[in-house]
Amino acid sequence: MILPKTHRLAPEQVAEITAIVAEFGCSIQPIIGAVRTIYAIVGDERDELMINRLEGLPFVERIDRIQSPFKLMDRRSDLASHRITIGGVTLGEDLLVIAGQCTIDPKNPSYFLETAAAVKEAGAHVLRGGVWKPRTNPYAFQGDGKSMEILMEASRLTGLPVDAEVMDEQQVEVALDAGVHMLQVGARNALNYSLLRTIGRAVAKRDTVVLLKRSLHMGTLNEFISAAEYIAAFGNPNVILCPRGTSPALDGYRNHPDESITPLLKEKTWAPVVIDPSHSVGKASYVPACALAAVAYGADGLCIEAHVSPSHGIGDDPKQALTPSALAETITQARQIWSLRHSIIGGV
Ligand code: PEP
Ligand code: MN
Repeated sequence: MILPKTHRLAPEQVAEITAIVAEFGCSIQPIIGAVRTIYAIVGDERDELMINRLEGLPFVERIDRIQSPFKLMDRRSDLASHRITIGGVTLGEDLLVIAGQCTIDPKNPSYFLETAAAVKEAGAHVLRGGVWKPRTNPYAFQGDGKSMEILMEASRLTGLPVDAEVMDEQQVEVALDAGVHMLQVGARNALNYSLLRTIGRAVAKRDTVVLLKRSLHMGTLNEFISAAEYIAAFGNPNVILCPRGTSPALDGYRNHPDESITPLLKEKTWAPVVIDPSHSVGKASYVPACALAAVAYGADGLCIEAHVSPSHGIGDDPKQALTPSALAETITQARQIWSLRHSIIGGV
């Protein structure tokens, strides 16, 4: 829909927009209102170049798109009935819990193995563990490829599928070869389209699930869903959206908590939403409240950092990991809110 700057366009201006849209197989239909005439684009209006050319015209105020830019991730797309199952949970049917350490310490593997058993006992369905870490400070611990063996050992011992972040093509390959069940795209790489394409291709013929974090500075919901569309377009529709707080931070929190975007995402996309309260608020004592709020907002799951002994952890664990007992309590309460929500409003 083309909204002009004036009440209506002059005939030569209509001729100009008609010529542009015709190049893309579309036509123009004026809709004459009492005070203003607007111009519908008839045809497939998703071509970015056509929209850019129309938006560049000096007499056009803005273009409102009716068609969704997401062919696959749109909630009205053919994929909308697609269901993602991991760790025995089909998203949307039960609350999914991903939990584990921010970072695996390769010098102390027993902590991770104990954490793995403890998060399973607490009720988690997927074990998370950072092998390679995206650190803001180049001198901070960057992770260690050796931790992959520890992660997979923990998976074998507990029977839990595992989630690990990958930051480049080589890590994608190593993680998939090792049998990682869920690839995490972190906040810093959420707009790395080359990585998104690589992951989409690499997991195309597998059941691998992708946990796509929301970028730190991600402006719009469309930008977030478009990143998921990249992965789906290259072959794997098993994409879960994971809001994890954005910048700038809300005073006192690590980031600006964004679990409240859950209902907005659900209006646009069928993709499940799993909230990460740990990076959102950044302090263990605030994590449970954020997790419960997320479920109240309609989240399909939670991704929570947990450690058997947070003070002995590395990476984010000393400040934001929950102990196993706090995790168990949070999961129990989150399930109660989930049930209440589903019994009152049917999970909408
Ligand atoms: C993490 O999950 O440990 C992590 C680094 O997350 P994010 O990409 O959201 O910062
Ligand atoms: Mn972390």
